[in-house]
Amino acid sequence: MKILILNCGSSSIKYQLIDMPQGEVLAKGGVERIGESEGILKHKTAKGQKVLNEVYPTHADGLKRVFELLCDNDPLKDVSEIGAVGHRVVHGGEALTKTCLVNQEIIDAIDAVYPLDPLHVPAHVLGLNVAKDLLPGVPNVAVFDTSFHQTIPEHAYLYAIPYSLYTEDHIRRYGAHGTSHMYVANRMAKLLNKPIADLNIISCLLGNGSSITAVKGGKSIDTSMGLTPLEGLVMGTRCGDIDPAVLTYLGRTKNMNADELDDLINKKSGLLGLSGISNDCRVLEDLVAEGDQAATRAMNVFNYRIVKYIGAYAMVLGHVDAIVFTAGIGENSPYVRGEVCQKLELLGVDIDMEANDCHGKERKLSTDKSKVEVWVIPTNEELAIAQQTYELVK
Ligand code: AMP
Repeated sequence: MKILILNCGSSSIKYQLIDMPQGEVLAKGGVERIGESEGILKHKTAKGQKVLNEVYPTHADGLKRVFELLCDNDPLKDVSEIGAVGHRVVHGGEALTKTCLVNQEIIDAIDAVYPLDPLHVPAHVLGLNVAKDLLPGVPNVAVFDTSFHQTIPEHAYLYAIPYSLYTEDHIRRYGAHGTSHMYVANRMAKLLNKPIADLNIISCLLGNGSSITAVKGGKSIDTSMGLTPLEGLVMGTRCGDIDPAVLTYLGRTKNMNADELDDLINKKSGLLGLSGISNDCRVLEDLVAEGDQAATRAMNVFNYRIVKYIGAYAMVLGHVDAIVFTAGIGENSPYVRGEVCQKLELLGVDIDMEANDCHGKERKLSTDKSKVEVWVIPTNEELAIAQQTYELVK
């Protein structure tokens, strides 16, 4: 069955056409700058890549063009060959806890999550409606980034603020990146040739956005992101954990309003804010090697926060069978992995520095004497969404 995976952002659509159950990617690409004076569409198949510079006034226009490219005899002849559409949905709130077939009720429920995720919800709703209109009769499936974290117990998801803010305003920790954490945890179990039910895994997803999840028996029991994808680790431009009083202090002393504070902690902080140079780990790593103080400062805070979370989750899990590194930095940075792992002596972590010198591929880093297996496992969110979509519609 050919499954189209859609990831709709406010001005973009990323897509992959995946043949299931084999998991073969038949085509992939993206439309960017929807609604702007000139958009760009990149489309790749086994036969090559096309790059189009055209105007895409709306998501529907962008998606129609994607369908034309997909049906140009490579890889499809007609859209009727698409068996289902799997949509990545960032936030499902508390109501949408599982991958589900989309109907109007579900679209309304996703729309109702708007106050919790104003950035993504409108784009997702648009994408769901456009797919429904352009592919009548084809099942649409919503896969939520938050659903994997719905197993987190109350003591871990509640904030210590008045309880009514949870019951009435739904303020709690929801987590994010769930589809990826679930994918790498399952993959880890396969690689270890053990049932996931018997394993305790710490999944470290380190990219421009970063999060860590404690996975016990295949279930998320704690994760570093919270109400929004801001809490937890230091990220490219996001601050991660911070004393909330910093915000009230800045509001009072610098007269900053909510939007300005939001901008500061989401777009001007993290590696960018600490270094004053870049949010890009590659750039900072090169500078660290040259002895640059600002870059070293930023990377030290970044690495330290990861160690701290791994330590906390080791205690929460009781024991740790495996630690997995994934996403842009996790898959590609021997420096970050090395700095983190050498601080995990108490857990009995021992990694082979030669094995650690790898980029973007599945690999075991730990030595035979390590008490914890340490692995790099590239994430594949699209495949995970395709698998869940296939399971639901087959
Ligand atoms: P992602 O958000 O998963 O795409 O990850 C983006 C981050 O991965 C950026 O900070 C990149 O600098 C980082 N990254 C990508 N390749 C490398 C590399 N070879 N070494 C270090 N960091 C990298």
